[in-house]
Amino acid sequence: MNYNKKSVKDVDVQGKKVLLRCDFNVPLKAGQITSDKRIVAALPTIQYLLKNGAAVIACSHMGKPKGEWKPELSLAVVAKRLGELLGQEVIMAKDVAGEDAKAKAAALKPGEILLLENTRYMKGETKNDPELSRDLASLADLFVNDAFGSAHRAHASTAGVADYLPAVCGELIEKEIGVMGKALSDPARPFVAILGGAKVSDKLNVINNLLEKVDTLIIGGGMAYTFLAAKGCGVGNSLLDKEKIGYCREMMEKAKAKGVQLLLPVDTVIASHFPDPIDGPIEVSTVSVDAIPDDMEGMDIGEETRRLFGDAVRAAKTVVWNGPMGVFENPTLAAGTIAVAQALADSGAVTIVGGGDSAAACEQLGFADKITHISTGGGASLEFLEGLELPGIACLQDR
Ligand code: ADP
Ligand code: MG
Repeated sequence: MNYNKKSVKDVDVQGKKVLLRCDFNVPLKAGQITSDKRIVAALPTIQYLLKNGAAVIACSHMGKPKGEWKPELSLAVVAKRLGELLGQEVIMAKDVAGEDAKAKAAALKPGEILLLENTRYMKGETKNDPELSRDLASLADLFVNDAFGSAHRAHASTAGVADYLPAVCGELIEKEIGVMGKALSDPARPFVAILGGAKVSDKLNVINNLLEKVDTLIIGGGMAYTFLAAKGCGVGNSLLDKEKIGYCREMMEKAKAKGVQLLLPVDTVIASHFPDPIDGPIEVSTVSVDAIPDDMEGMDIGEETRRLFGDAVRAAKTVVWNGPMGVFENPTLAAGTIAVAQALADSGAVTIVGGGDSAAACEQLGFADKITHISTGGGASLEFLEGLELPGIACLQDR
């Protein structure tokens, strides 16, 4: 999917009331924000709009209140933190697009910012109800979507509202579709994709779509064992998707037919049981992939595989990575994921990381600032890699 969408910079925002869909779905613990990363990520577009004379009406969902007014999922904590980061008051509406929101939006002046309540307090949000879309649209003159993490959902505040207002993207979405769109449609080559994570079945369409585009496809993590089984290896107690062995065989044939190099692990780190707790101590050893004992479980790529994958990454001009190489949450089983992250960091390639756990791994392991682009959307970036149309982006005006 190659998008060429208008952004806030392509339209006149001066004196306009702008409904800005953000991704303020921040993690909370005991009513406190544990990471304000998503709020910080939204600042450039908010500041641009405020500075250029727009009145900003921000909105977002948080958690899954499923149409119920759950006070613990109020965006009031976000209003407070956003106000601190902006250094100005963020006016909080008591509802989503009701009487209070309408009155406050009507009174809002250029340079001021209002935050609506959790959009998922309204049943119509996830149903993409036109009535809610119309109510939201009635507050503003322009819709700006900057919530990449929600762009794969056709909800009232992410897509429906664009039926009733001129709609463009914010800087975050512009960057996501610029970097990922270019990589997928017109990549500098060699183009190498690395896939890992837990299950093959989560990423069937990602594998299939990437095989159309890449020069080399690397498979690691839990999903590699189903590929190894398809090659005839015994995988012991490793993660195995029995029903998908045939699919993996098909994908191996497709790679061959397309001249795509498919790299699988050649050695693996095994243990007698999954760590419990996940970051607890664990005894491991390394074996060749054709020598995994029946009672052992593979949980990371071995050293030889790290070299093999690392060399392919270092020779690349474009790298897309989704899915950790092992159970990286455990320090003993993180070495494979670290090796791949290090190879990305060292390479001069355009490097893109998509997927919630992969992004978390890069940050946790300290590689985030050496990667060209870490996608802010887990599910959305996967759908992007699958080549699916994202409704929250498709609804915006073309350039
Ligand atoms: P992402 O969110 O980046 O798309 P996934 O959700 O698909 O990634 O997978 C991440 C999870 O996969 C991690 O929790 C990790 O522990 C797990 N994982 C990776 N390799 C293995 C393995 N060999 N065995 C079991 N779990 C694994
Ligand atoms: Mg995940």
